[in-house]
Amino acid sequence: MKKRIVSLFALAITGVVCLTLYSLGDIHLVMEIMGIEQYEETIHAKEDIKTTIVLDSGHGGYDTGCIANDGTYEKDITLAIALKTGALLSSYGYHVVYTRTSDEVSWSNNNKDDLATRVAIAQEADADYYISIHMNASENNDGANGFEIYVKGNNERILQIASRLESSLTSLAYTNDRGIKTTASSPLYVIDNNTVPAMLIEYGFLTDQNDAAYVCSEDGQQKLAQQLAISIQKNVPLSKS
Ligand SMILES: [Zn+2]
Repeated sequence: MKKRIVSLFALAITGVVCLTLYSLGDIHLVMEIMGIEQYEETIHAKEDIKTTIVLDSGHGGYDTGCIANDGTYEKDITLAIALKTGALLSSYGYHVVYTRTSDEVSWSNNNKDDLATRVAIAQEADADYYISIHMNASENNDGANGFEIYVKGNNERILQIASRLESSLTSLAYTNDRGIKTTASSPLYVIDNNTVPAMLIEYGFLTDQNDAAYVCSEDGQQKLAQQLAISIQKNVPLSKS
């Protein structure tokens, strides 16, 4: 009998402490006292935070990027592919952030401000990956063609995405594979100054007739976007871990 009274008293005291703490908002401490595994809630909350992918359309606004022989601007091709890629990634369940969604840009007509703003957008979005989309050009129309992918080489998952994309683009057989390159030999601001793991794709040479025809076509753009989106999906979980 005495034991039962002591137990009831202990239970009542625990209840009062729990209610007091609960009213103070310390739910984790209440759960700990009550023996409930508080980590469960933490893990659950993390599962609900979507992985954020920043898609950066190269150039835009004052900066046309390189120009194809027929006068097509690089900035228009990069935007079209980024929007197509973003639509696919969103449909898979990722959170997609664009550095721009039209030819209107949020930075000044200054290259340094331009690049710094793109990197800042990724940082402010607490992004997980940053993918920059570009087209190449050869200065003397020397017949150079092919795609190439740039990475910093310090992030395993970016390397996996790059590797998957390289084989997927090769299987499309629209141009040559110029390989995966690191920015150690070719520094790139949006990769080297990014706090978010980053990658930059040069999908082809606008100065090459065949490359230009493919990357400018609706069908080509859709396929390039699809391969990029799949390369991300195969390597990146939908939720932050
Ligand atoms: Zn470019």
